[in-house]
Amino acid sequence: MTKVVHEKSELRAACDAIRASGGRLGLVPTMGALHDGHLALVADARRRGATHVALTIFVNPLQFGPSEDFDRYPRTLEADVARCRDAGVDLVFAPPRDGMYPPGFQSEVQVTKLTTRLEGAFRPGHFTGVTTVVAKLFMLAGPCVACFGRKDYQQWKVIERMARDLDMPIDVASMPTVRESDGLAMSSRNRYLSPEERERALGIARGLRAAHAAYGAGERDAAKIAEMVRAEITPRFDSIDYVDVADADTLEPFTRPIEGRAVITVAAKIGKTRLIDNTVLGEDTSP
Ligand code: AMP
Repeated sequence: MTKVVHEKSELRAACDAIRASGGRLGLVPTMGALHDGHLALVADARRRGATHVALTIFVNPLQFGPSEDFDRYPRTLEADVARCRDAGVDLVFAPPRDGMYPPGFQSEVQVTKLTTRLEGAFRPGHFTGVTTVVAKLFMLAGPCVACFGRKDYQQWKVIERMARDLDMPIDVASMPTVRESDGLAMSSRNRYLSPEERERALGIARGLRAAHAAYGAGERDAAKIAEMVRAEITPRFDSIDYVDVADADTLEPFTRPIEGRAVITVAAKIGKTRLIDNTVLGEDTSP
């Protein structure tokens, strides 16, 4: 039975009740428009020992910039709840638009160094919006395993850091990106793409694939690998925000030879649609 609640107090009470009855809570925070990537997080929570899974759906205004897609972001609550029922989610928390922030709200949670580059550089204020809402969800849910996707690689790292730095009683877990059969990373924003744009969007997976192949063949020059990825994306996308090769833990850029684990992160636009993707060389399977 899937219980759907809209009030913060109901989320807190339901999570407390799960623990009180000896259950272990899994938490899956989302912005809705659910796809198989989101539902894989539900399965991941179970795999990690959660007896009950709570999935939250909130399009968080704090994490969108003024010229971003907050207003047109897909909102499909009825279909999302149906998918949650099919997946056996125990609890759905879907607060109304003005349901998360009380009047006069003026507090924020900020992770500093990890948020300066990549998404942080191109979306000022984005991560403060993310960490603030996720901190609130963690406070409401209480001790749990919280499952995130590595599709949003930097976001996962930032949330992991926040929970550790602030002694939050949360086990922050992550799982690999779920992709369509042709390699496109699943994303709620994919539904903005026309069939022709959807085809061009494969440039990112092609680029990441080329990077894996080069790395597998022994290439360790970060700039050369980034150039190969760009070569697949440039002709298909309208603009590129970044193609970056960085240390997979610190997200510091490599100056030339790659040592240790490297993550390639990409953000690029087709029309008004901005897509992000990433892969960890020598670790993730090639898209
Ligand atoms: P969102 O609804 O886009 O904010 O995403 C909610 C959660 O789902 C985040 O932890 C994302 O990283 C994760 N997620 C989104 N897309 C994917 C995907 N294709 N594979 C795995 N996790 C994903």
